Amino acid sequence: MDKTCAGEPEAVMPFHGSFGYNDPDMNVFIQKHHPLQVFLCLCLLLAGPVMAHEVVPHTGPSLSSKPAELEKIIKQKIEYYNKTYPEIHFVHVDGGDDWHGDLLAIITMLGTSPDALDYQHPPDLRETLMNVTMERLRIMLQADVVSATLFRVGQESILKRPNLCVITLNPNEFVSSDYQATRYMLDLDDDVMKKVHPARYLDHIHHLMFTLDHEAFHCLDSYFNGGSPQTEKELGGEYNLFRRESVADAYAMAFHIREHGDVTAYARNIAHARALWLFSDSPNRCTFETLREVISYDDKVIRSVPVKDLISLATHVRNKTVGNYDAYVAQRVAAIHAAMELGRDIAFYGEQWEKASEKQANPALVKHLINRYEYYYAKLFTDDPIPMVAPHGHEWKK
Ligand SMILES: [Zn+2]
Repeated sequence: MDKTCAGEPEAVMPFHGSFGYNDPDMNVFIQKHHPLQVFLCLCLLLAGPVMAHEVVPHTGPSLSSKPAELEKIIKQKIEYYNKTYPEIHFVHVDGGDDWHGDLLAIITMLGTSPDALDYQHPPDLRETLMNVTMERLRIMLQADVVSATLFRVGQESILKRPNLCVITLNPNEFVSSDYQATRYMLDLDDDVMKKVHPARYLDHIHHLMFTLDHEAFHCLDSYFNGGSPQTEKELGGEYNLFRRESVADAYAMAFHIREHGDVTAYARNIAHARALWLFSDSPNRCTFETLREVISYDDKVIRSVPVKDLISLATHVRNKTVGNYDAYVAQRVAAIHAAMELGRDIAFYGEQWEKASEKQANPALVKHLINRYEYYYAKLFTDDPIPMVAPHGHEWKK
């Protein structure tokens, strides 16, 4: 998930190492990015679109955990997925200084001639996809980016199971405390973050568990539903990515509500943060509508759903909230125009979105997105209850 949301194998580039094989036609189904752009999109935290607000710094408590406590939670989650899905071996690696060792361990687990399963592809591109997938994995580990990748293991693998799900996540980098988890998610610098009301802080333990569920789901999605489909549409890869991100968030939210028995403060705060992601990360990870839909479900229904059925519930919600390709493009073009009106540098979102800015946007939709963003941004500095539908500007801008 990207910052917490990286089951998104769009972040690939040709591998020049020992897997060295590079096919220029890969962009038939994978969008390539310049390495710098990949890092910009996935790692760097833009100083957020800081708007003028008269706000007072808060000095509320920020709960934190020791590394061993976080590791224990990760271990329990991985054990849960290994127990529940015997066809997949789930493994967590945290990268950091020893990312080389982590990568070597994964290569050993993969054996010879493994397959990358996150993208549907013709057989003659198998090796190429494997190369770029390994390169992407290296970047994730080296740069401490959260991600998930599913492989079918090859011959001579040390694993007994036929598939391997690798989750990269360095807990010390992004969930060591409520403050840190929130700051990372909202892409805020410390000066602004200190003014965010503690009521808006993400509970870092909940956030760690939500993130692990989101990432594990990317592997389950590839395993049960196949990887991201091939497409030749201009923004088809982006559309497929958005669908994958939305369903992973729907699953993680449903899992969270089921575990906790109701809609927690964390559930509301992560939905709120995702609404702000329209401009702070990539429009493709703004899954607010989907999270809102899960939150609006009757808690009792979610609590009574068997855990394995959460996958179909999440898929149902995603299919309801994410429209068809044309509706998606209209929404995203409006988002890019709104970002420009808010003074954002849209180059940050990548070449394809920059190009999409030339398309005509629906003015009412642009206005709606700007109002929603400004409303939720302003709410960061208060402990007011936050409605899931932002009021019109004339109702709250007084
Ligand atoms: Zn994701």
